[in-house]
Parts: sequence; C-alpha cells; structure tokens
Amino acid sequence: MLKIGVFVCWCGSNIAATVDVKQVVEAVKLQQGVVFATDYQYMCSEAGQLIMRNAIEEYKLDGVVICSCSPRMHEATFRKNAERAGLNPFMVEIANIREHCSWIHKDVEEGTIKAIALANAAIAKVKLNAPLISGESGVTKRALVIGGGIAGIQTALDIAEAGFQVDIVEKSPTIGGNMAKLDKTFPTLDCSACILTPKMVDAAANPNIELLTYSEVEKVSGFVGNFKATIRKKARYINTDLCTGCGDCMSKCPSKKGKNEFNCGLNNRPAIYIPFAQAIPNVAVIDPVQCIKITKDKCGLCQTVCSAKAIDYKQQDEIIEREYGAIVAATGYKPIKLDKFDEYGYSQSKDVITSLELERLMNAAGPTGGKLVKPSDGSHPHTITFIQCVGSRDISGRGKCYCSKICCMYTAKHAMLIRDKYPDVNVNVFYIDVRTPGKNYDEFYRRAVEEYNVNYIKGQVGKVYESDGHLVLQASDLLNNEQILVNSDMVVLATAIEADESAKKVASMLTASIDTNNFLTEAHAKLRPVESPTAGIFLSGVCQGPKDIPETVSQASACAAKVIGLLSKAKLVTNPCVAHSDELLCNGCSNCANVCPYGAIGYETKLINDHGIRENRRVAVVNPALCQGCGACTVACPSGAMDLFGFSNSQIMAEVEAICKK
Ligand code: SF4
Ligand code: SF4
Ligand code: SF4
Ligand code: SF4
Repeated sequence: MLKIGVFVCWCGSNIAATVDVKQVVEAVKLQQGVVFATDYQYMCSEAGQLIMRNAIEEYKLDGVVICSCSPRMHEATFRKNAERAGLNPFMVEIANIREHCSWIHKDVEEGTIKAIALANAAIAKVKLNAPLISGESGVTKRALVIGGGIAGIQTALDIAEAGFQVDIVEKSPTIGGNMAKLDKTFPTLDCSACILTPKMVDAAANPNIELLTYSEVEKVSGFVGNFKATIRKKARYINTDLCTGCGDCMSKCPSKKGKNEFNCGLNNRPAIYIPFAQAIPNVAVIDPVQCIKITKDKCGLCQTVCSAKAIDYKQQDEIIEREYGAIVAATGYKPIKLDKFDEYGYSQSKDVITSLELERLMNAAGPTGGKLVKPSDGSHPHTITFIQCVGSRDISGRGKCYCSKICCMYTAKHAMLIRDKYPDVNVNVFYIDVRTPGKNYDEFYRRAVEEYNVNYIKGQVGKVYESDGHLVLQASDLLNNEQILVNSDMVVLATAIEADESAKKVASMLTASIDTNNFLTEAHAKLRPVESPTAGIFLSGVCQGPKDIPETVSQASACAAKVIGLLSKAKLVTNPCVAHSDELLCNGCSNCANVCPYGAIGYETKLINDHGIRENRRVAVVNPALCQGCGACTVACPSGAMDLFGFSNSQIMAEVEAICKK
C-alpha cells in the first residue's frame, strides 16, 4: 500500500473563500493510504513547497496529491519539488479544486463537497500510478516562422541574431505584411516604410534567414524539437536569380485589369508585377489567372522585353521538405468584410472607404501619389467623417465581439494628418468610447481634439446615404441627446480586424488551439503568453489577438526569446506519459492510427502467442518519440488494447468510481 500525502492549497482566497479547506483535509485523512494531510495558503510558494518536501521525507511518502489550481499552472512545479525530495515526479497528482471547483461555485458547502470528491479521485488515481522515467530527444537548430509581416520579421531577426537558422514562409510574393501598406504610424507619426523597410532589408541580408515568399506550409509532422514541414513554393514564372526588378515587363503587359492587392484594390496592376517598389524580394511575379500567355498561350510580350531572360512560363511549384526545432505562427490579420454592414453604404458609394484604403490614398506611393481626393470623381473633399468600431465590440453577432484595439488611435492619426495637410478639410469622428491605453496615446488623441480641432461626436451612425452629390450620415449625438444629420464628402470606416484566413489552417496543421474568433490561443494568458499549449509552437503578433505595432514588436521579440531558449538546449526531456498497445488485445483495425494527430502509431506483423495459439498478427506499435500522450487513440480503440502510461483506463475508472462513491 502506498503512503500518500495530501496538500490542500488555499490559493489565498481563490480556493479558501468557496471551499472549506480544513474540512477537505479532515475528509481525505479518512481515505485508505493517506498518512499525512495538511493545508497551506500558497502551496506553490517556497514555504509551501518546503512543507511538501519535508512531509515526503518525514513520512516516506510514495504518492502525493496536491489539491490546488489547474495542472496546466503548476503541475511541473510540484513534480520538480517532489523530485527534489527524492520522489518520482510521476507519483504526484493534482486535484484541480480551483478552476474546476472554487471558481465555478458560490456556495461553500457545495464547493467543499466537490473539492473532497476531486481530492478522493486524485487519491484513487495516485494509488495506481507507477514511477515513470522521462526520455530524451535532440533539437533541430532551425526555426520556421509562418508569416512575413512585422511580427514574423522581428521574431526571425532576433532568432537569427542569436545564431540560429530561420526560414520565413510568407504566402504573398513579398514580406512586409499590412505594415508595409501604412503611411504613418502612431503615436510618433514616423513613416511606416522608414521603420519597416530597413528591417525587411536586414531579414533578406541576414545569412541565418531564408525567405520563402509566395510559399505556404502544407504539412507539419513531428513534435517539439523535431518538426518536419512540407512547404510549397508557388511558381512565380520568374527566375528570381535573374530578375533585376527593372519593371520593364510591367509597362508592356497588355493585361492590366488585375486588382492591385497592395493598394487594397483601389487601382489595377498588370498580370506581371512587383507588389510595391520596396518589395522584398524585389522581383516580378506573374498572376497565372490573369496572364494571357499562361491561360491562352498568346502574348508572351514580357519575355521579349525582359533583357535578363528571367521569365519562365513553364515554371512549376516547388516542394521543399525541412526539419525544424520550433515553429512560430505569425499569420497576422485582415480587416473584416463589410457585406453585413450595408447601412454604412460601403458597397454603394466609392466615397465610403475603409481606414486601410485611406492609408493607401494618403501614401506618397499610393494610387493618387498621396493626394487625398474623393475616389468617386477625384475632387478635393471638404468634410471627412470617420466612424469608429465598425464591426468591433459588436455583440449582435454581425461583427466581432472584441475591441480591435488599434482603431481609436489610427483614427486620431488619420484625423490629425488630414487636418495638418489640408487645414480647409473639416474632420468629424463618431465614436462609442475613445480607448487610448498606451504610452503617450491619450496625449496623442488630445492633440487631435485640442490642437487640430477634430470634431469628436459621441454617438453611433445608423445610416449613410448619398444625396445631392454628397454623403449624409444619420446619427445619434449622445452628449446632446439628439438625432443629427451630418453631410460629408467622404466617410472612413474604422473596420474591425480579424485573424487572417490562414490562421485556422495553420492552427490545425500545428495542432495549436484557436479561440472562437480564430485567434491562436496562448498556453497561459499571463505566464506563457507567447507559447501555444502545443510544445514547440510559438505565437507572434496579431495571430494571437489584436495589438498595435509597438505591442506586436515586443511580443515578437518575447516569442523569439522563447524559441532561442528551446533551440539552445542540447536535449529535450520527453514526456513518459505515452500510449502503448497490448498486442494480445489489438485486432489491427487501424482506428487508433486514424485518430492520432501526431502520426505516432504504425503497424508491425508479429508472431503472437495468444494462450498457446501462435500466429502472425498485424498489431499497433506506438513510437514513443512521436506520441504526445493526447489519449485520442485510447478512446478510439474498440478492443481496449491501447492505453496510456500515467493515464491508464484503470486509473481513470478508479477516479470515476471515487467521485461516484457517497
Ligand atoms: Fe525586369 Fe525581366 Fe524582372 Fe520584369 S522579369 S522586372 S523585365 S528583369
Ligand atoms: Fe502580361 Fe502574361 Fe503577356 Fe507577360 S505574357 S505581358 S504577363 S499577359
Ligand atoms: Fe497518438 Fe495516442 Fe499518442 Fe495521442 S496518445 S499522440 S493518439 S499515440
Ligand atoms: Fe489495435 Fe486498438 Fe489500434 Fe485497433 S484501435 S489497431 S485494436 S490498438
């Protein structure tokens, strides 16, 4: 019989306010095998850990149950502590009486009954635990960064600076992401290109970084320290080693009706194009859907003008297989579609534009050379009205329930830039609240109001319509408690941002979790904010949630620090809680292999001695280096052959029985 110690944590008042911890201690003392039980205010503190170590040594405990917070929080802490006292770390079990109990109950009696049941379940489980020994695996000293916006670039630069190889895989033909489209950045109003393009150049020049643009990750297998990725490098129809970026082909191309993605579709581009002047790599790409040569085998003009002989209409996609120790998701964001917000007239009037479109209109490299004109007729606008929170903080279900975090600040920036460049233009801003929680942010907003006389109106716009050649906004003015009509030449919508459409696919490939808004979930919001719950997968930038550039860059560097920490290790300790199959019970049905997300199960034909009958059978074999102990196979197995060390079927049944026992 094991000698078990139980340690009940108060977690300050987090647990103790809803669970009578003394009663839990008295109840568990009645359980067979429990030789010691106590409670303490913070079991995870040094003093709490000392109580545990002393008890292990004094009572010669060979099983420990900690009744505390989620194992995701401190299981590793308590296991390490047990090891310091000479106990196998896998002889420690956690009863989660915080997230699963005190935080979801209000009534102390109810909470205490449940806490006792959870403690008893953990005691029942630990009785069936066996000491487990962790293995070791190597680490591939190379990182993969998926996404080449500012987040991906910063993360890659920091990893490369530490001496590790990094590949940036970017789906578009250039790195730079959304930031490359911006004109100026808040709160300093420095030019976006001036701060971004040197970083793009650094990334391209760094010998430790390989840029795989116009490429997508198609498949990822393996596990922390030992991932394998399959990357599709799409055909550009250009030999990038030969192309000089001269642009001669672009002017000659007769197929000019392509939507210019970089200018948010505000103008067109030819079928052969360089995304923008500072693009990296600064080479052309052919849009195969638009090119007359590729679609109809006619034209071929660009090949005749290209003196570098760079054009290759027969180029094929290339498949690259690489191994990585760590993977960073930096898939970024996009503005939401506005088809559910027809009241703002975006689809009806060319003079209703999004904030990102305004960025391009105000940019010297944009479609109007930086001259702010009405898109409908090219005339000078006299009044511009901004509408904030379009699709953000929307609990109706049409838009996004969250705050997009950047719109209040970029709207203040736009308003200020317009008033500065065109003092004759009146600027109105409709807002719900102005949110400016950042260094020098509120001061920035106040400058818009006080120095630039931007007219902020607290209220919501119900409708935007055209009348007599201008736009009319029907709105509420909440401070004056009246309905108003505002005439405007242009309307700019501060459109909500959402996770890029690639985020969902990338998350599924990486077995990383996403939230209901398709933002990748961090392992712990406060303690592990740049790590995904899946080991070896890290998060950089807006793929994890809305954030502005300073926050993105900080997070990108934090993410790089975590990756460097991982890649610096000579060996990784592997989790011994892996699956194993009972060859006598296995019928070779493949159910387990079909559900295993890590490809950890293979099959072997073995000579099996089944109660004296010897025969060759196809049986499941788990590769412990690949198994992540998720348990999916144990549920899928119809014959009970698959089981998990540390979470065996008998242990789980023992827990259930303990909970059901009155
Ligand atoms: Fe110049 Fe040829 Fe490259 Fe076009 S493909 S940019 S013509 S080098
Ligand atoms: Fe344009 Fe295609 Fe003709 Fe080249 S071959 S000029 S890309 S249409
Ligand atoms: Fe695959 Fe089973 Fe291991 Fe999960 S527990 S990774 S399903 S072998
Ligand atoms: Fe064998 Fe069970 Fe896997 Fe089927 S599901 S192959 S019975 S271990």
